[in-house]
Amino acid sequence: MEELILVRYGEIALKGGNRSLFIRQLIKNIGKALKGIDHSIIKDRGRIFIKPVSGPEDTDRAVERLKRVFGIVSLSRVVMVEKDLDTIKRTALEMVRKRSPGSFKVESRRADKSFPVGSPEICRLVGGFILKNSEGIKVDVHRPDLMINIEIRDKAYIFAGMEKGSGGLPTGTGGKGLLLLSGGIDSPVAGWMVAKRGVELEAVHFHSFPFTSERAKQKVIDLAGVLAGYIGGVRLHMVSLTDIQSSINMHCPAEQSTILTRRFMMRIAERIAGEVNALALVTGESLGQVASQTMESIFVTDSSVNLPVLRPLVGMDKIEITERARSIGTYELSILPYEDCCTLFLPQHPETRPRLERILQSESHLEVQRLIDEAVETRETLEV
Ligand code: ATP
Ligand code: MG
Repeated sequence: MEELILVRYGEIALKGGNRSLFIRQLIKNIGKALKGIDHSIIKDRGRIFIKPVSGPEDTDRAVERLKRVFGIVSLSRVVMVEKDLDTIKRTALEMVRKRSPGSFKVESRRADKSFPVGSPEICRLVGGFILKNSEGIKVDVHRPDLMINIEIRDKAYIFAGMEKGSGGLPTGTGGKGLLLLSGGIDSPVAGWMVAKRGVELEAVHFHSFPFTSERAKQKVIDLAGVLAGYIGGVRLHMVSLTDIQSSINMHCPAEQSTILTRRFMMRIAERIAGEVNALALVTGESLGQVASQTMESIFVTDSSVNLPVLRPLVGMDKIEITERARSIGTYELSILPYEDCCTLFLPQHPETRPRLERILQSESHLEVQRLIDEAVETRETLEV
């Protein structure tokens, strides 16, 4: 008897000519996600089997990691046994006992037509055996608590139920984006959503050290770490905004400081994107949440750059974003109360309807190019 993990990929099967490319990338990503777990990967007509080599604890660990790999729609633990009806019956029974459901259903496929028993007959025999040998369980063909699948191929493959994967497309099939990663709730979710579409991410974080603390930096590194669990790794650029913010505070009207700061963030991000071949910036903004996220602010912010800016949260409300943050595992980190560079210098009355001419006028009092050059050049870069 051997235990395997069956990985199903849905969407990528639809992608015509790109299909083999997608599968190759998915297999590569699976290998990365399972680093440190001895395993082999078996490709088999539209499905992938993974065999952790050293035992059941490794299977559990592997399943947890695979649930985060984009492109995987669902996973099942599969037991592979000899094609022998008695063995199949006993194995199925044991799988049911382990999970003690109230109801079950057996489904079967006979790919190997030389197997002497037909599919309906396999279901009937195995189902009957389970009923006879367990208590308080019934068959429910419409909505069973547990589905037992039996496939007869080179061996008999038996699997009980399935777990949901992350879905989406394999990371690395959709180009690269640069995520503006704050310590807040929204931007990690935004990064996750874009990554789910196959996009590889690097991230940039702006801090105002020493006005913001080392702990605030560490929080962002930890958030990048959670994202890395989904996409196999994130390069994080840490940029100081301290000089830029003091320059803005010294030379520009207080109510403009938020929007001016944001334009600097975008321009710096665009420069870094150019260096690392990212083709879009990604932010966690959504419309109307706060003063800086009005249509007018977005217009003025985007006018500072040429790259496309993706805002995957634009159609979501705070409750949906928070739910997603919880489910992907970033929420608990995001709510740690460390100061952010933006809140630190937040004016009392930030302008909610900035006008581009006025903002450009204020920027004419600043050494924009020098400030950007310095910020980009003095950044720290870490592999998370
Ligand atoms: P978040 O929850 O992501 O912090 P927010 O609701 O606080 O978002 P803003 O402060 O207006 O909204 O920031 C909007 C977006 O700008 C963020 O989602 C993020 O993409 C980017 N951003 C803001 N502050 C930073 C920062 N310190 N470093 C990097 N990006 C930032
Ligand atoms: Mg924030």
